[in-house]
Amino acid sequence: MRYDVIIIGAGAAGLMCAAIAGQRGRSVLVLDHANKAGKKILMSGGGRCNFTNYYVEPERYLCQNPHFCKSALSRYSQWDFIALVDKHGIPYHEKQFGELFCDNKSSDILDMLLSECEQAGVKIQLNTSIEAIIDTSINTEVSRENCQYQLLTNKGGSSGEYNCESLVIASGGLSIPTLGATGFGYQIAEQFNLNTYSTRAGLVPFTITNHLKAVCIELSGSSCEVIIECNGQSFRGNMLFTHRGLSGPAVLQISSYWQVGDNLTINLLPDIDLAQALRKTQHERPKLSLKSFIAQWLTQKMSEQLVEYFFTNLFERGVSQTLAELNAEQMDMIAAQFNAWQLGPSGTEGYRTAEVTLGGIDTDEISSKTMMAKKQQGLYFIGEVLDVTGHLGGFNFQWAWASGWAAAQYV
Ligand SMILES: Cc1cc2nc3c(=O)[nH]c(=O)nc-3n(C[C@H](O)[C@H](O)[C@H](O)COP(=O)(O)OP(=O)(O)OC[C@H]3O[C@@H](n4cnc5c(N)ncnc54)[C@H](O)[C@@H]3O)c2cc1C
Repeated sequence: MRYDVIIIGAGAAGLMCAAIAGQRGRSVLVLDHANKAGKKILMSGGGRCNFTNYYVEPERYLCQNPHFCKSALSRYSQWDFIALVDKHGIPYHEKQFGELFCDNKSSDILDMLLSECEQAGVKIQLNTSIEAIIDTSINTEVSRENCQYQLLTNKGGSSGEYNCESLVIASGGLSIPTLGATGFGYQIAEQFNLNTYSTRAGLVPFTITNHLKAVCIELSGSSCEVIIECNGQSFRGNMLFTHRGLSGPAVLQISSYWQVGDNLTINLLPDIDLAQALRKTQHERPKLSLKSFIAQWLTQKMSEQLVEYFFTNLFERGVSQTLAELNAEQMDMIAAQFNAWQLGPSGTEGYRTAEVTLGGIDTDEISSKTMMAKKQQGLYFIGEVLDVTGHLGGFNFQWAWASGWAAAQYV
């Protein structure tokens, strides 16, 4: 069967590209090995899909070439996607920091994309695995039908063979294999000699395996607002203690900048200069215990657990010391511990729970205007399979929409 465009991956980027290419009058087939389209869209944003952000800027993306994403993001902006959402009458709200979520369910966004595809005459075929991609311009024995690419699938025989002029790889990254993620896109890049950067999990919780783990278990479910820093980046937001380590928005954000062996610097009291507050309170309320002092800003339980964990060695006579007994050096040490806690996570939870995959196909191989591989005519890459990774907050979907839209103009 012949199509103008075949898109591999019925996820965010693939469906957007399919709908727009279909509206341009191209015949479009979308193939996916999963039994359902858009599984990550359905799971996203805690079931409410954080579909974009009011404040999309190139600085919100990690990429070896920080300029690459600018063109697509400016040609299909958050305002364009919001207009589409409005056209479909989907109710939404801003949660915080410009993050836009559906009022109802993530399926509103998936249904919108599927309906756009249907109106544009796009065919979506699920449960289909691609077994081989043949470049007919090299392998001249294969019948061409004016098509550069032939796909062989698990459907077998001639009914499982598809030909197309433009082939779009929208198969995403490695995060959450149970939602259909595979390294397919990277294999295709290798087949066509395109460079890829090594991948790792991003927007992912940290695991802790040393003696801090007992504190994490004890405080599991508790959260506090922090500023967290690593490798010159910092984020302010909630940090959540879990049974395995640390999570929450600020932690997920910084995880994309963390490499094995790096320390995090965590300010547990971002609005308090603790050294100053300690000296002032020592003067005013000398009998106050350190735990009660810290519990002004953190919960009692958090204060107790952290003071005990941080200062067991400091206070030989137990931790219920009063502020009066602290000398200047001890106060500075306590302040540094809370305002600049140095913490080395053991690792991350990995692709099993990561929201995104860092790294991927080298964007220097791809035209930022068309998303086509510079040295492989008719082969396009869009979405997360590329080495473009957004911050938490709707930026990854906006990249999927924008890159899908950009490719759709040229396929
Ligand atoms: C739990 C979770 C929540 C998230 N929440 C948000 C959020 O609220 N906001 C946000 O901006 N981002 C969020 N993200 C990130 C966002 O989902 C992705 O960045 C985005 O879906 C990437 O789009 P994509 O089209 O490139 O890939 P995907 O949406 O992952 O689609 C890839 C498609 O390719 C198919 N595929 C893979 N391999 C093959 C193969 N070998 N053969 C055929 N088909 C294949 C898959 O089945 C899938 O349908 C979340 C991610 C996760 C995991």
